[in-house]
Amino acid sequence: MRERLMTMLEERKKEIIAIRRHLHENPELSFQEEKTAQYIIDFYEGKDIEIATNVGNGFGIIVTIKGTKSGKTIGLRADFDALPIVEETDVPFKSKDEGVMHACGHDGHTAYLLVLADCLIQLKNELSGTIKIIHQHAEETPPGGAKSIVESGLLDDLDAVYGIHLFPMHPAGVIAYRSGFAMAGRTYFKLVIQGRGGHGSSPHLANDSIIAGAHFVTAIQTVISRRLSPFDVGVITIGSFDGKGTFNVIKDSVELEGDVRYMTDTTQKRIEEEVLRIVKGIEVEFGVTCDLEYVADYPPLYNTPELVADVVQTLIQSEQKEIQEVVEGPMLSGSEDFAYYLKKFPGAFLYIGSAPKGVENPFFNHHPKWDIDEDALLVAAKAVAEIVCSYNK
Ligand code: MN
Repeated sequence: MRERLMTMLEERKKEIIAIRRHLHENPELSFQEEKTAQYIIDFYEGKDIEIATNVGNGFGIIVTIKGTKSGKTIGLRADFDALPIVEETDVPFKSKDEGVMHACGHDGHTAYLLVLADCLIQLKNELSGTIKIIHQHAEETPPGGAKSIVESGLLDDLDAVYGIHLFPMHPAGVIAYRSGFAMAGRTYFKLVIQGRGGHGSSPHLANDSIIAGAHFVTAIQTVISRRLSPFDVGVITIGSFDGKGTFNVIKDSVELEGDVRYMTDTTQKRIEEEVLRIVKGIEVEFGVTCDLEYVADYPPLYNTPELVADVVQTLIQSEQKEIQEVVEGPMLSGSEDFAYYLKKFPGAFLYIGSAPKGVENPFFNHHPKWDIDEDALLVAAKAVAEIVCSYNK
């Protein structure tokens, strides 16, 4: 089956690219991917599968392909949402919807997985086990689609789950992996500090919320530097502090917003405890009232070491010419809601090199000039095909 599957994928390379370009031209934002979902549903029309639509909190789709031979159940996930970015490339298939762009490669993820799924459907008589194709909406916007898809229960029988991401730090042909914690978890917070407004000449009759807010900004810097072990990592960024007012008016209240990242669940808990403590301290110290919204969304992404080892072995032994090199990647401080699948099921998330050919310093994911080497799509298809073939061998 392996050789037939690989040949079929090669023969359909142009179709994978055509699907990717169609999706690229027609991007839709998280939770609004109605046409994209319909395109995917139409693709499976008349095929011998089970399909569940509107899965989770949006347009999620799960396609079940049952092989005729017995075996385990594997989930393969591709996301399909785009970003609120004005595209600045001049590719002929540039976004038709100005202000919305597939700038993270989810168009490519979906394109390769559709064609791989179709090939697996055609090879059902030789296929062992069950493949669940997870077409996921809303990866880019918390709470994301993944958590609700996992909670739908439709994946409860998975033995393993795999996903890939196009990644411009390597050329097409290179696949990067990382065992254990690989991508950061993320928390959003908003703090409203309520003081008491007043005249600048009479601070004793008021309670200055700007002073309390400024102390919060300073104190919170000590969470990473003084409370985490030097061997743990975390980031706290305050990206918004609405201190704007009038020069001789003591501000009644201020609002701050921030972003927290961490590589393990333990670090997440530690940072949260410390932030809460500092907020309580600000209340006591300044006599203000603090209202803190602290929302941990995507968890740290943990790749199952045993499965990563199997995948690496499989890919290194692959005889496919498109799969040229398998390298260990660094930890990434970005977040990915694929982490929710990995919280429940063993699995692995891989990075497929996609740097455009001849470009020395490719634009990173989410850049308005983001572009890919479309050769990476066949690499993705073949790599995941190798995983499917070796898992149920
Ligand atoms: Mn992405």
